Amino acid sequence: MSAAAWPRRPRLVAGNWKMHKTPAEGAALAREFVALAAADPAARACRVALCPPHPALAAVGEAVRGSGVDLGAQNMHAETHGAYTGEVSGPMLVSLGCRFVILGHSERRHGMGETDEAVAKKTRAALRDGLTPIVCVGELLAEREADRTAEVLVRQIAAVYAGMDVATAAATVIAYEPVWAIGTGKVASPEQARDAHRVIRATLDRVVGAGAGERMAILYGGSVNAGNAATLFAEPDIDGALVGGASLEAASFWKIAAAAAAAR
Ligand code: PEP
Repeated sequence: MSAAAWPRRPRLVAGNWKMHKTPAEGAALAREFVALAAADPAARACRVALCPPHPALAAVGEAVRGSGVDLGAQNMHAETHGAYTGEVSGPMLVSLGCRFVILGHSERRHGMGETDEAVAKKTRAALRDGLTPIVCVGELLAEREADRTAEVLVRQIAAVYAGMDVATAAATVIAYEPVWAIGTGKVASPEQARDAHRVIRATLDRVVGAGAGERMAILYGGSVNAGNAATLFAEPDIDGALVGGASLEAASFWKIAAAAAAAR
């Protein structure tokens, strides 16, 4: 497997635009964000990725070119090409300038039937294609209420990472996104996020190898906004954020990135 090496425990804030923004609207939002980034070089301590829907990738890629802001996609197919109507492959995303790809988002797992096995296959495919996968995991509200959060996280992490070597695993990013916190305004407490991140790191140590958990960047996602980001990032186990709604407004997304950069 080949993938760009990912430095130890980076800070990353990625904006998941979901099914929002045409190419023209996306380019305008990206330009606005790039202007804010250019005005505050200190905040470059945090890596930032914009993840628009596929039709807007080229226009947003053009808007961020040379700015240091990365481009990411929201999904990909595991095969490089073939008879897969409506699908997009890793090499296609790379050709548009993507560095990242979000995989296993809960809206795909729970809304479109994406299985643990499919997420595992796509993760390996993304690494093969030279993309950095942002692997999303997280429990449903009913699973949390039934005290099954750890069990769900262990299952989702093991499905993707079992058998992977430490260097390859460290070339990926994990996003812990409790499903009950996504798009609901109900953010997890720093303690809830920390506990989940610790379960994930311990699972990585077990299924990948000793020390893997400590090396991996684990983001928190779920109703992160400009007002709560700094509190979350004060928790040393939270290495950044995957942001949905608040990434659709340049100033609030920028405040989140600046909070991540200031956190260490
Ligand atoms: C997401 O879509 O990954 C997400 C975390 O959304 P929001 O920030 O809107 O909760």
